[in-house]
Amino acid sequence: MERNHKDNLLKKRKAEIDLSQFYQKNQEEGDKTDQSNGEQQVQKRQRKDCPYLGQIKRHVLDFDFERQCSVTLSNLNIYSCLTCGRYFQGKGKNTQAYTHSLEEAHNVYINLHDSRVWCLPDNYEVEDAALNDIKYNLLPLYNQQLVDKLDSEPIFSRALDGTEFYPGCLGLNNLKQTDYVNVMIQALCRIKPLRDFCLIYKLSGENLNNVDPKHLLVLNFAELVKKIWNPKNFKGHVSPHEVLQSISQASSKRFKIGEQKDPINLLTWFLNTFNEDLASKNSKGKKQTMIEDTFQGEIELSQLIPKNKDVNFLNKIAAMKTNVDVNVQYEMKNQKTKFFFLTLDLPQVPLFKEQNQLASIPQIPLMTLLKKFDGKSFIEERVTAIKKKYRIVSLPKYLIIHIKRFHKNDYFIEKNPTIVNFPIKNLDLTEYIWDQNSSGNKEEVNGDKAATEKVSYKYDLVANIIHDGQAEDGKYRVQIHHKPTDQWYDIQDLHVNNIMPQQVVVSECYILIFERQIHN
Ligand SMILES: [Zn+2]
Repeated sequence: MERNHKDNLLKKRKAEIDLSQFYQKNQEEGDKTDQSNGEQQVQKRQRKDCPYLGQIKRHVLDFDFERQCSVTLSNLNIYSCLTCGRYFQGKGKNTQAYTHSLEEAHNVYINLHDSRVWCLPDNYEVEDAALNDIKYNLLPLYNQQLVDKLDSEPIFSRALDGTEFYPGCLGLNNLKQTDYVNVMIQALCRIKPLRDFCLIYKLSGENLNNVDPKHLLVLNFAELVKKIWNPKNFKGHVSPHEVLQSISQASSKRFKIGEQKDPINLLTWFLNTFNEDLASKNSKGKKQTMIEDTFQGEIELSQLIPKNKDVNFLNKIAAMKTNVDVNVQYEMKNQKTKFFFLTLDLPQVPLFKEQNQLASIPQIPLMTLLKKFDGKSFIEERVTAIKKKYRIVSLPKYLIIHIKRFHKNDYFIEKNPTIVNFPIKNLDLTEYIWDQNSSGNKEEVNGDKAATEKVSYKYDLVANIIHDGQAEDGKYRVQIHHKPTDQWYDIQDLHVNNIMPQQVVVSECYILIFERQIHN
């Protein structure tokens, strides 16, 4: 597998990205400011001939960690020493960076907030195109042209230590029981509208020291996605440290480092939190946020609720269950609900009673599980005797399917190991969409432009989150589709392996994400 991966990489021509396109413009803007502001021009000290650039050691630089001074622990005005990589507050006289430059004779520093490079203690800004790759690793920049390339042209990259990788297929550090976060991050990196939103996202002068935790999560997530897709990444892997910090903070420590949680709960919370932040900044004219436009579908729940709530009610229900004909009156109730994911139930696994072991691991097709949403058959709830059926009103561009493997009984969490068989390409859900033409309400259908547009309900898999092992001490990994090469990768924290498509369908899938096909 390892060999296969390498061969695939070597076949591709390394695509060069010209970084000067991102810094040329900044330079021009800077010049304009200088001309319009004479005072600033006097104060601004720039040099192109800094004699200390030879000190820079790229392999010790790591910009994934919290921007915090290694001496004062402050988060304000932090610089990284480009010789030893340590973070210091600075850069004026008697600051930590200034002192470090005198004590260690380390003279070149990058501002972690705006990526400008300074020489200390002389205190002049260094202008040199040779620093662009460092600036780009700190704050990767994208334009539409580069974003468009990511899914069509295989851009092959090499880290400083020689590791070869495709941008977007990078391992993530596990910071202690954070595999459940890593799989979500990796899966969301396959969602084009969300990924592109993050890559193009520009800070608009927000004061990062006084920002709402939910908005900080969005900002930090966007920065992480930029690093994961960075074709110039120095390390070939990324630490999601800052995103984990902001998840912990924004969720009031419901999700934190050191304690494995259920990724479907994290994903639900994450999408809702992200969505709330986008909605709060939405202009009034816009109906939907990017998150709603990407993930949101709608189902209709029909319930038959027993009317007879007299003292004999339970007896009647009991009698009904033993096939005695009892006249129970039902009340019909319909309710439409929006969703970000669909949950599918697995049939109970038969056990050998004596040995308490599985007879064999059962298999079931995904299409069979989806019958829950066919809108035809009512399913009765055991305790309440309410009969329910679901039908799908609309399906999103990206359909998240949650296979309900875990059940909590009185003592512990049980895992259902049933293998679910699903197609990687061309999952056809057309028959599950409620046919509005047969509803008898033609006027509404004709009036609704969206309903008359021909929409495909064929889907291709883009990510598959898997749970391996027992319910209590298992691990999560994710399989993702790399579009430019049409290859599949299995990612478990830092480990990235090229796999065959056949290996995707034989795992204990937990969360599947499908992308709707686009018809031309
Ligand atoms: Zn240093």
